[in-house]
Amino acid sequence: MNVQTVGIVGAGQMGRGIAQVCAVAGLNVILNDIGDEAIQRGLLGVESGLRRMVSKGTLSDAEAGSMRARVRGSVDMHDFADCELVIEAATERLQIKQDILKALDGIVRPDAIIATNTSSVSVTKLGAVLADPGRFLGLHFFNPVPVMELVEVIRGLQTNDSTFDTVIGFAKRIGKTPVDVKNSPGFVVNRILVPMINEAIFALHEGLASAEQIDAGMTLGANHPIGPLALADLIGLDTTLAIMDVLCRDFNDPKYRPAPLLREMVDAGYLGRKSGRGFYDYSDARA
Ligand code: NAD
Repeated sequence: MNVQTVGIVGAGQMGRGIAQVCAVAGLNVILNDIGDEAIQRGLLGVESGLRRMVSKGTLSDAEAGSMRARVRGSVDMHDFADCELVIEAATERLQIKQDILKALDGIVRPDAIIATNTSSVSVTKLGAVLADPGRFLGLHFFNPVPVMELVEVIRGLQTNDSTFDTVIGFAKRIGKTPVDVKNSPGFVVNRILVPMINEAIFALHEGLASAEQIDAGMTLGANHPIGPLALADLIGLDTTLAIMDVLCRDFNDPKYRPAPLLREMVDAGYLGRKSGRGFYDYSDARA
């Protein structure tokens, strides 16, 4: 199937990034969220992403204008009726995702593919709520989407080969490098990465070093491009906690227990960059 129009559910940091890369690749995009305000923030995010490309000389003004025009916002999922591909990129909560998928089932065309950008939830379990889970899989982007090259393409137990092949082709078309990953909690990258972030939060909580020193340790000592606490702020502490909760519960292994400080910060509403405060202060930098 040739994908021309992509529907995206969730206009948060991932949804807007996915919208941007699809528009740059020449696709039409419908960006959905629960309210106008969230959609406007998402569209603004797409626009500033494209403007950044213009200021770097990657795009001309005219190109950025026509790419921006390919993305439209919608609060009504019925607008997805003609999409060949719909990507669910809403909040990392099982119930929210299952409700969205059930709603999509009655709306999308019979040959449409539905993908989830979940960071950790079982693709098999999510697919089970759909009438035809053969046309469903995981398409896991990395943050920030326009910058990070990788996507994990995750087959649920029910995913059929043509769905998998179409999505591999789609990932390449939008300039990403897909890797074929089996369904398992956290898939591959987050299973390795997020427990490391969680361990950094334990180290901070135990007073072993300051946030800045922990991050300097991992950038200068392990050659990571960004420290684990700054990365948690970028991912979102709510998403980081949700991933650890899934790893801990689904592997039934206490080695994945979330750091108490992580939960405490989420309870306080300190979610990282998106809320203006996490392990660092972003109050001056909020868009
Ligand atoms: P976010 O909090 O920035 O955005 C989530 C958006 O989903 C919000 O705008 C919210 O209003 C919207 N939403 C919630 N319920 C909805 C519904 N019923 N219908 C439509 N929209 C709804 O979160 P994010 O960082 O963009 O993460 C989104 C998804 O992508 C999650 O599953 C997350 O695990 C995954 N993901 C995140 C990262 C990351 O680094 N943040 C990386 C890869 C994957």
